[in-house]
Amino acid sequence: MKTIAWIGLGFMGIPMSKHMLNAGYIVRGVDIDAAAREAAAKNGVEVCATVAEACKGVDAVFTMLPTGTEVKEVLTGPNGVFASIDPSTVVIDCSTIGIENARAVHASAKKANRIFAEAPVSGGTEGAIDGSLTFMIGCDDPHVARVKELLGPMGGYIAHAGGPEAGQAAKVVNNLIMGVCVAVNCEATALAERLGLNLKEFFEIAIRSTADNWTFRVWNPGVGVVATAPASKGYKAGFKTWLLAKDLSLAMEAGREVGATIATAEAAHAILKKHMDNGGADMDATSLVLSLKDAAEKAVPQKAIA
Ligand code: NAD
Repeated sequence: MKTIAWIGLGFMGIPMSKHMLNAGYIVRGVDIDAAAREAAAKNGVEVCATVAEACKGVDAVFTMLPTGTEVKEVLTGPNGVFASIDPSTVVIDCSTIGIENARAVHASAKKANRIFAEAPVSGGTEGAIDGSLTFMIGCDDPHVARVKELLGPMGGYIAHAGGPEAGQAAKVVNNLIMGVCVAVNCEATALAERLGLNLKEFFEIAIRSTADNWTFRVWNPGVGVVATAPASKGYKAGFKTWLLAKDLSLAMEAGREVGATIATAEAAHAILKKHMDNGGADMDATSLVLSLKDAAEKAVPQKAIA
């Protein structure tokens, strides 16, 4: 049986590693959070105390960590993944880390003579649970077939976006669209509510109209509109506000590097940042609607409208 190591057992890592277990892999897991380790162990993951221990003799290593900072630390640190594996082991980072960090990790991998692919994902926790994620691979051609095979149990669509950095480039562009959609869906929901619209009826209208978008249908910000959406579960993440703000800042960074205008990302980032300052950082990103409703109520109290 093939053995893999999985570093980062959060909202995405837990269901993704479960698919690898179901596909017959032995999975060794590492996470700094005790609750994450416990949840993974319940699924059958062999929890290890250190990255070095988890990586000993494995066929592949996956990372699913919050940002480029943790990914660089875990992969390139003194007792990290690159220092603990054989040259034949494939390392796949599925986190969203942006183009610059991907560039740095590819350079470290090359220096250490290690096989590395970026394979960020789209599809949310829903796609992670269903095993229907879209993967965007960025790596050199000779490794593509092996990387695709390893991602198979978790993916609905597995794309080779291109060489090093192309996977993160595709993800950054995708999440520019997604992030702006989440922000505008929240603004629209707050406005619709202030205008006295029935949010469930408006949902039925919008998904049949030009406003339709994936995040509105799956992560609708209105309470009780979509039973499975974070809004109907107390805005518990899902996809944390600070992670979405991170993705928008990665798009802003990419835009600056190549001179592209991304003013909508800047506007969405600014309102998410305000919501984080209001205490919404670890809630689902659609909880942005709560800060927008509060701000509207302060500006013009509902009783003044009615
Ligand atoms: P999460 O915060 O739920 O999970 C991250 C896990 O990494 C946590 O359990 C944390 O304890 C662990 N961790 C942090 N530093 C560590 C370290 N040094 N060593 C070991 N473990 C460490 O986040 P998530 O929602 O699972 O997202 C993970 C990545 O996937 C992010 O880059 C995110 O942007 C991306 N992503 C998330 C979604 C989503 O819907 N949640 C969708 C697509 C992509």
